[in-house]
Amino acid sequence: HVKQAGRNGWAIYSPEMESIADTPPAFLQELSQALEHNQFELWYQPKYTVGDHALSGFEALLRWHHPERGMLLPAEFLPALEETGLIIPVGKWVIQQACLQLHQWKLQGNSEWTLAVNLSPAQFEQHDIIDVVCNALAQYQLSPACLTLELTESTALKNLKRSIEVLNAFSALGITVSIDDFGTGYSNILMLKSLPARELKIDRIFVKDISENSKNTKIVSTIIDIAHSMNMRVVAEGIETQEQEILLTQMGCSMLQGFLFAKPLPAHKIHELLQPENSIKQKPVVHPLSHR
Ligand code: C2E
Ligand code: MG
Ligand code: MG
Ligand code: MG
Repeated sequence: HVKQAGRNGWAIYSPEMESIADTPPAFLQELSQALEHNQFELWYQPKYTVGDHALSGFEALLRWHHPERGMLLPAEFLPALEETGLIIPVGKWVIQQACLQLHQWKLQGNSEWTLAVNLSPAQFEQHDIIDVVCNALAQYQLSPACLTLELTESTALKNLKRSIEVLNAFSALGITVSIDDFGTGYSNILMLKSLPARELKIDRIFVKDISENSKNTKIVSTIIDIAHSMNMRVVAEGIETQEQEILLTQMGCSMLQGFLFAKPLPAHKIHELLQPENSIKQKPVVHPLSHR
């Protein structure tokens, strides 16, 4: 199971690899020290409301600045983090860093921005996950309403009874619960119904092939209708074309995310989004046929 040499000469962990048994030990060693060496960073991808293209918030996305290989994406190290259990301390750092960022935005006058944090399966399973989140919010005196927690349906399905309890606790606190990558797992409608989630994110793979009269379009509009019948709002991720935006808006998505609007950015670049010349409000406004 030898992989082609990576960017800077030697093999790198990849999602195709079955387990960390295939991962070079040096890579795991570096990964285990990345946190203490301050090599992780959060990047932020904007989420916009349909129609008026108002910036409603961001999703935090983890990046690793590897000393030799440059910036690595989650696909290159997240499976190893998960399998080694390093995701627990790293995930905790992500939550704290996200809350620090919300605090800074608040100081800058952007207290209405929300931030979504992705929770990994192992992280969600931790018995103290509620405390970890609450402590981070309390540390920066944040309203829970500015935080969204994204987890996939397979994460929620692992132990449905416990998931319902934990997500109920998050919801009761006022945190938004979001089901990420919907459509890629079991897409269990009954499960969805039992989860106290306010938001559903349609996976990029469905958005990618969407077009007038395609099979995917029917699947997506069915998912959106089901979500609405459960009082969930729908976010479309991975929007790259205006055609996709128009179709998803007509089908009733509430929020849009994708390279068409903005790529993930480091915190110091976010102000560039706010420059009038970069405003996506200039683009044609599409009025949703049905919306919530
Ligand atoms: P996700 O949560 O579904 O995040 C969306 C991914 O799609 C991001 O990739 C984002 O950069 C990418 N994306 C957004 N819009 C577009 C688009 O228009 N076109 C294309 N081609 N891609 C787009 P990224 O940052 O590489 O993250 C991949 C996955 O890694 C995330 O998928 C999430 O599952 C996971 N992840 C990222 N950060 C964290 C984290 O802090 N903790 C945990 N547990 N998982 C994370
Ligand atoms: Mg996500
Ligand atoms: Mg997603
Ligand atoms: Mg996805």
